[in-house]
Amino acid sequence: MTTRDMTCIVCPMGCQLHVELEDGKVMTVTGNTCPRGKQYAIDECTHPMRTITSTARTENGEVVPVKTNRTVPKELMFDCMKEINKAVVKLPAKIGDVVVENILGTGSDVVVTANMD
Ligand code: SF4
Repeated sequence: MTTRDMTCIVCPMGCQLHVELEDGKVMTVTGNTCPRGKQYAIDECTHPMRTITSTARTENGEVVPVKTNRTVPKELMFDCMKEINKAVVKLPAKIGDVVVENILGTGSDVVVTANMD
C-alpha cells in the first residue's frame, strides 16, 4: 500500500486529498468535500492532465501569451512546449486565435490569450 497527498485544484476550496493506492490502483480517497475531488485524485494518480500556459513568438519577434484550450496528458507537456516554441503567431492576433491545432493529436488547440496588433 502506498499513499499520496495532493491538493485538489478543481475549485478554489483546495481540499487536501489523501489517496491510498495498491499496485497503482486507487483504493481510497479521503479529504474531498465533493465527488469531483475523488475523480480528480483518481485521474491524477492514473492519467494526470494539465493545461499548458506559455508564450509564443509572433512574426515581429515579440511574444504573445497562449494556452491549451483543453488539458493534455502531463507526460506530453515537454513535447507540447517544443511544438509551441516552433510556432509563429501571425499579427494582428486576437484572443482565441489558434496557434497550434490539435497539438500532438491530443484534441487540444493552443490558442492566443491576449490581443496584439
Ligand atoms: S474536493 Fe470538491 S470542494 Fe474540494 S477542492 Fe475539489 S472540487 Fe473543490
